[in-house]
Amino acid sequence: MKIQKNISLKNYNTFGIDAIANTFIQIESQKHINDLKLIINQLPKPFYILGSGANTLFTKDYTGTIIFINNKGINIIEENNNDIFVEVQAGEIWNDLVNFCVNNNYYGIENLVEIPSTVGASAIQNIGAYGMEVKETIHTVKYTDLQTFKSVELSNTKCEFDYRNSIFKNKLKNKVIITSIIFKFKKYSTLKLNYGSINSELKNQNIISPNLKQITSIIRNIRASKIPDPKVIGNAGSFFKNPIISKHELKIIKNKYPNIIYYPVNNNSFKIAAAWLIENANLKGCQIGGAAVHKDQALVIINKGFATATDIVKLSNHIKNSIRNLYNINLHTEVIFI
Ligand SMILES: Cc1cc2nc3c(=O)[nH]c(=O)nc-3n(C[C@H](O)[C@H](O)[C@H](O)COP(=O)(O)OP(=O)(O)OC[C@H]3O[C@@H](n4cnc5c(N)ncnc54)[C@H](O)[C@@H]3O)c2cc1C
Repeated sequence: MKIQKNISLKNYNTFGIDAIANTFIQIESQKHINDLKLIINQLPKPFYILGSGANTLFTKDYTGTIIFINNKGINIIEENNNDIFVEVQAGEIWNDLVNFCVNNNYYGIENLVEIPSTVGASAIQNIGAYGMEVKETIHTVKYTDLQTFKSVELSNTKCEFDYRNSIFKNKLKNKVIITSIIFKFKKYSTLKLNYGSINSELKNQNIISPNLKQITSIIRNIRASKIPDPKVIGNAGSFFKNPIISKHELKIIKNKYPNIIYYPVNNNSFKIAAAWLIENANLKGCQIGGAAVHKDQALVIINKGFATATDIVKLSNHIKNSIRNLYNINLHTEVIFI
């Protein structure tokens, strides 16, 4: 296992922030995990487990050790007439797994096409899009505990999945390396089409019973028209989570802003569209240094090519303060500040 010193992280985060890592190691196999166990006490702390850096903002140089997860492999481990169980190594690129499923007619993650992620990180915040969440197909998460180096298998219900949340963002935060995930996909159609403009796109294209290729192609096009490609314009997707407020709070805010966009979560709580809050506060296009709110997508902060991490942090704080002052709502970042 290679240990590198003073490595630039510019190509390891989708914002393209040029922070320097004191120490950088790459995990490509179980052997590398075993090697890590032998040297862990000599490595500078703290540790940060890094996937593709699509949800990470390096706010400064990293004085500890970056553990970059790059183990690969997609293996079918069991199947019956209805289901197929596939074990995928954590360093696999998420979209490669979606393509694998589409090519083999396995259902369950098609609406999550083009989410920039490693497979391991998909479980961390329970990635979701177009009415689907990864928790619906995760069967077991396998991880190595960084203290004891024991391998643990956590079944779906023990992962405490929630909206953009899981046990890995709470109790197990920075304490484990997810090494692989076992997914349970369906061999029959379980398409979810009633979200966003999927149905209207299908009608436009005269498609009556769509297949996986058609659905992923439609979602790919919708996403490309809405979210800037991080390879072209640095960004980390949705910067803020949609805030959840009570029925009482919703009533107060609706009196003032009848057009507010919201969705029921349960009888007493409602998810507010953070993008609406930001857009209605006239913050689209707002720029600090090289960081700006995307002109079409209020939830996306972009690097205009010369943003420093400080620019992004300042802009994030400005948005949070403006939203608090205007609506008395606290925004929380989806992006992880390091
Ligand atoms: C253009 C764009 C669009 C996006 N669209 C969506 C969307 O539609 N839906 C959505 O949910 N998200 C979306 N995101 C956010 C992002 O794709 C997800 O958060 C994704 O899971 C991040 O994966 P990553 O490998 O880049 O994680 P990283 O940023 O590298 O890491 C994220 C977190 O996971 C931890 N981690 C990573 N790998 C491991 C591991 N193997 N073991 C333990 N901990 C680990 C890290 O320590 C960190 O806490 C988008 C981002 C971008 C840039």
